[in-house]
Amino acid sequence: MILNKEKFRSLIFPLLVIAIIAGMIGCKSAETMSNSDAMIAEDSAPMVQEMITAHPVPAAAYGTYEIDQEKGYYVEELSDGLYYVTEGMYHVMFLTTGEGVIVVDAPPTIGDKVLAAIAEVTDEAITHVIYSHSHADHIAAASMYPPDAVYIAHEETAKRLSSQEGGSRVAPFGAFLGGSPVPVPTVTFSDSYTLEVGNQKLELSYRGENHIAGNIYIYAPKQKVLMFIDVIFPGWTPFKYLAITENVPGYIAAHDEVLSFDFEILISGHLTRLGNRADVETQKEYMNDLVGNAAHALQTVDFMAVAGKTGWANPWLLFDTYLNEVADMCTDSTVVKWGDKLGAVDIFTWGHCWKMAEMLRVD
Ligand SMILES: [Zn+2]
Repeated sequence: MILNKEKFRSLIFPLLVIAIIAGMIGCKSAETMSNSDAMIAEDSAPMVQEMITAHPVPAAAYGTYEIDQEKGYYVEELSDGLYYVTEGMYHVMFLTTGEGVIVVDAPPTIGDKVLAAIAEVTDEAITHVIYSHSHADHIAAASMYPPDAVYIAHEETAKRLSSQEGGSRVAPFGAFLGGSPVPVPTVTFSDSYTLEVGNQKLELSYRGENHIAGNIYIYAPKQKVLMFIDVIFPGWTPFKYLAITENVPGYIAAHDEVLSFDFEILISGHLTRLGNRADVETQKEYMNDLVGNAAHALQTVDFMAVAGKTGWANPWLLFDTYLNEVADMCTDSTVVKWGDKLGAVDIFTWGHCWKMAEMLRVD
């Protein structure tokens, strides 16, 4: 049961096909408008799509599960009634309690397949819903859960979800992800909250801003499973710009917070496998290198030399060139060490370096 590179590609491939076909249709209609007379003769010429490639991803980034293509999800009991569900990109956790199901998060990419996964393993109804944080890509399918369930989150998450459409919003919550506004949590907490239902216990805690204000640690002490989303990316470099974190110092500090829990399995929200303590230690070392390499680049790249090349008439040209050179130098030092150890280091390290340098300059 392996989600190897081929399986992963088989998940992504249908999306690529849609994109390519859409591109072909786009090309064709443009051609139709600009050169309709020549269309008939040229119509039979096949378009050749050049593949975009990158540095090979280490095999250790891939997991040990296989997505059933018919079902579109994978569900597994990790221990004692605690399960996780994935479609290969996002993770959901749920627990059977004997008195109803507790479920954490509702990514629109998995959507009602979460309901199918739960129904596959239990007849219990969903009675409790926890939001890990307020980002729509992790919870904007939550309106599929029973409206009379108990919805629990950090008070900051509830605050951010209190107005999800209308008013000053640019777009309704989740609109760009196939999701929709979600039930606002009615049980909230500031520091910690223990949820006990039937034979299960979850310890929720908040230890300061990291990825986003309100992002909580969800710990199952009996199973030694920790769920903590969008900070640790087992086997991979974090998503772009330190996973779009709102608080870089808090994001870095969260690595030690994670390690302070007595856990064996980490459900971290994304990608091709679950995590463990070694993954957290590895990413902590990568973060330390990013800080060191960004600091060194800030101390080394000569601002006045850059100004000599750009002049002073356009300050944004000067600053952009300078900050790009800082990020370039930090990236070169980081990729040479990490390129073969984590997936996609060549893709996102530049963004991490840029963000780390900004943190060092202004935070
Ligand atoms: Zn997030």
